[in-house]
Amino acid sequence: MRALVYERPGEVRVADRPVPEAKPGEVLIKVAAAGLCGTDRHIADGSYHGTPGIVLGHELAGVVEAVGEGVAHVAVGTAVCVDPNLACHSCAQCRAGRPNLCVNAQAVGVTRDGGLAPYVAVPAELATPLPSGLSPVHAILGEPLSCVVHALDRVNLQLGTRAAVWGLGTAGIMMIQCLKAMGQETIVGISHHADHRELALRAGATRIMTQEEAMDGLEVDLAIEASGSKTAFEPAFNALAPGGKLLLYGVMNPWDTVTLKPETMFRKELQIVASYVGPKTLDRALALLKSGAVDARLLLGDRLTLEEACQWVLKQGPRRKAKAHVIFDDSFLD
Ligand SMILES: [Zn+2]
Ligand SMILES: [Zn+2]
Repeated sequence: MRALVYERPGEVRVADRPVPEAKPGEVLIKVAAAGLCGTDRHIADGSYHGTPGIVLGHELAGVVEAVGEGVAHVAVGTAVCVDPNLACHSCAQCRAGRPNLCVNAQAVGVTRDGGLAPYVAVPAELATPLPSGLSPVHAILGEPLSCVVHALDRVNLQLGTRAAVWGLGTAGIMMIQCLKAMGQETIVGISHHADHRELALRAGATRIMTQEEAMDGLEVDLAIEASGSKTAFEPAFNALAPGGKLLLYGVMNPWDTVTLKPETMFRKELQIVASYVGPKTLDRALALLKSGAVDARLLLGDRLTLEEACQWVLKQGPRRKAKAHVIFDDSFLD
């Protein structure tokens, strides 16, 4: 089979790989589709640790093709989304109920083979059955949405919160859709890309702005940094009303630093909350996709070939719309 393989920092290629087998405790998944994400680019350029030689792809869904020895709870033929994060279940963080902070964490498409290939074998515990009626192609949004759901859990969002989202890529648009689903009245979308701002309006933003406009007196209770750009940190922080929260969501580079005004933070009793991946939130994410509260059709962007996906990951080729993805099995298209 042909797979998108991360060789080493700066080197990603489409390579031939044998179809994997389901080892004891694993399921073999026939991949319907897999999404591409900024994290893949960070792995490719070496700024996010990935294991050399693995197949990329941590946002995937498909159908169970075979089960390994000892797998009882997932049957062949079940449509599933993969939760890529595998915790050890025994370290102090896992014991404390924070599997996303597991010190021995493994991840599909990061430290072991992922779904940018027609087949992938994963530990059975990661295979999450889809709600009936949800297309596996739409379900590739389950993983990124599970991270968004966890992030909004982390800020204990209250009704009537005035919110603004910096960065209107997939995560930012999902944030807006969730804020809308929760009935928030003020949802500001901020981006310098005109097409992203337009998408944000369709997703439910009540107002859209450029970063420059947002720096001119915008005041919110919740500022969400979903761009991964350090230049958004200060404007987001400065937009906080007294008692406000800044949610750090976008993946910045490890060497990025930002300037913070502790006196402002103290005087306004501000909070900065970070959120890392999406533990135990995949089922809720899939429910939001099934209900349409988060509209997959709005989010799914350009369909790429594996070669185009390779270019995308290496930041070559044209700029792509919304969630770029690869579909391996056309029978799931609707
Ligand atoms: Zn991702
Ligand atoms: Zn652990």
